[in-house]
Amino acid sequence: MRIVVIGGGVAGLAAGYELVRAGHEVVLFEAGPVWGGQVRTFEIGGGRIESFYHHLFRSDTEIVALIDELGLGPDLRWIDSNVGLHAGGRNYPFIGPLDLLRFDRVSLLTRLRLGLTALWLRRVSDYTRYEGQRASDWITSHVGREGYDRVWGPLLRAKFGAYADDVSMVWFWGKIYLRFASREGGLFAKEQLGYLRGSFGRLVDALLEALTAGGAELALGTPVARITIADGRVSGLSLADGRHVAADAVIATVPSPLFARMLPELPALDARYAELLEAVRYQWATVLVLALDRPLSDIYWLTMTDDDVPFVVAVEQTNFVPPAEYGGQHVVYFSRYADPGDPIVEQDVQQVLDAYEPYIRRINPAFDRSWIRDRWLFKDRAGQPIVHAQYHETIPPHRTPVAGLYLANTTQIYPEDRGQNYSIRMGRRVARLALLDAARAADDAAARALP
Ligand SMILES: Cc1cc2nc3c(=O)[nH]c(=O)nc-3n(C[C@H](O)[C@H](O)[C@H](O)COP(=O)(O)OP(=O)(O)OC[C@H]3O[C@@H](n4cnc5c(N)ncnc54)[C@H](O)[C@@H]3O)c2cc1C
Repeated sequence: MRIVVIGGGVAGLAAGYELVRAGHEVVLFEAGPVWGGQVRTFEIGGGRIESFYHHLFRSDTEIVALIDELGLGPDLRWIDSNVGLHAGGRNYPFIGPLDLLRFDRVSLLTRLRLGLTALWLRRVSDYTRYEGQRASDWITSHVGREGYDRVWGPLLRAKFGAYADDVSMVWFWGKIYLRFASREGGLFAKEQLGYLRGSFGRLVDALLEALTAGGAELALGTPVARITIADGRVSGLSLADGRHVAADAVIATVPSPLFARMLPELPALDARYAELLEAVRYQWATVLVLALDRPLSDIYWLTMTDDDVPFVVAVEQTNFVPPAEYGGQHVVYFSRYADPGDPIVEQDVQQVLDAYEPYIRRINPAFDRSWIRDRWLFKDRAGQPIVHAQYHETIPPHRTPVAGLYLANTTQIYPEDRGQNYSIRMGRRVARLALLDAARAADDAAARALP
């Protein structure tokens, strides 16, 4: 079969990899100037780093298997996690359960409730009991108003903005369950986070090499404009430059609204499917990255809980990976998820730095612009799908209404939250689904041809 994959993020690359391994002809189109999508990387101090911070959890077994399969296993390091909360102008380490007890921003009762509810959630494996429930309601009734207002509420608002109160309890469950359930020793064990020596860009490279070795045609900077249909099934696609490419099947890994634009006849074919694509709401992911001549703090992942702070988390990569990997520079990401109408969507790196500077000083009052050696701003409009309480009823199936055409994007990752592990799992599964359907169609045709 000749299968075209749209999108060169990890879902598209994993789908293509699965297909070439099964001996099929693959053509992969990526609109952007680099491979990797949300896992794209850039150079810094002679090293390489993700544009958007990335690490793995122990529960990310699919990506670990792929890393091993591609021979990168020895370069996957598991590093003790070093996380903290910033509240009321102070940085609180949050590494073990004792740190929770020391978190004096909330009453002792709330601290105990925070701990006990986390312990409870890590034991619940059937998430369906939470479908239709809002995390805000569950947290308010189980942890209390203070726990919601001071701890979980600000975190939900930071990620989901105006939609925070409506976020599904399944999303919240997934965050706790997956993070703790995979730890040996449970809640009381030290957490370890995974990172690939030289960045996850090396996994992207290894997938590209495997695709090339399998004979795939890889086209960077080549946006797909339209998907074409003939005799009720997918026939190929047309590129933005006007070329037409024929295909027996197409797997699209682009965000849902972009996919809908590639298929204007969809509402007439299946109005419900078209509605599902249009109903998805995303938050923009934005990160300001600073390369500094000295450390900002001693915490890797510092979550900001004060409502007035314009970024959700400060991720100091060099408290995770040694600065030597980036030419001795200290690298910090300041992450903000933004509604589409948020001014940051239009701002440049200087404007964002100006806005963030007073709050960066809250983390370390000595911070000074003279520490900055370099700065970058990265944005992705489909950074985080908004997983609302009825989300489970709105996920479009991978099989689209057009035979031979499949969709595999981050909105279909459920009940887990989006992550490389799940994009890889989905890409590989959808590739197998496409092959299975093609095999069934061939069997049916052969059966019909029998006398
Ligand atoms: C801020 C942030 C932090 C994250 N942190 C982590 C983490 O710590 N750990 C982790 O595992 N995961 C993390 N993730 C999630 C992870 O990066 C994603 O789950 C994964 O990369 C999504 O891959 P994808 O291939 O589904 O989508 P994408 O990476 O979005 O790929 C889709 C591709 O389609 C291309 N495309 C769009 N339109 C067209 C077109 N018309 N023609 C051709 N190509 C097109 C795009 O350019 C893009 O490259 C993070 C994501 C963000 C945004």
